[in-house]
Amino acid sequence: MPRLAEEAGAQDGHAQVWLDFAIDAQGRREIRGRLTAELQLLCRRCLSPMPQAVESEFLLGMVTSDALAADLPSTHEPVLVENEQLNLLAVIEDELILSLPQVVYHDEADCAVSRDQLSSGDGAEQASSAPSKNPFEVLKQLKGKT
Ligand SMILES: [Zn+2]
Repeated sequence: MPRLAEEAGAQDGHAQVWLDFAIDAQGRREIRGRLTAELQLLCRRCLSPMPQAVESEFLLGMVTSDALAADLPSTHEPVLVENEQLNLLAVIEDELILSLPQVVYHDEADCAVSRDQLSSGDGAEQASSAPSKNPFEVLKQLKGKT
């Protein structure tokens, strides 16, 4: 799923999809579906991946032209069927992308970046007023260890 990877990064989890194919009273072919997936999404705070469960329910109307798509009731998302072929994987990938949350964050306790590090208040002041925080001193110490 390259487009999903573009949106959410490479994934190695599984998605579960249930699809129910039906023909409605107007003779339209429709797919009622549900999907759940465990994705790895980047925490916006520490930029490391975190598991995120996504879930989506959808109702698709299969159409063979854009004109027919325009006729669909608003409850249905149109999917274009060409030459009697429906690219189901692409449809499911679309639904996964649509179900992605805008931003995700770790719970504070689990995040690599704590709230203290984010706040520019006390922590920064202490660092600048502490003695012997000369970066070259630190560098010397590092070199001495190797
Ligand atoms: Zn985080």
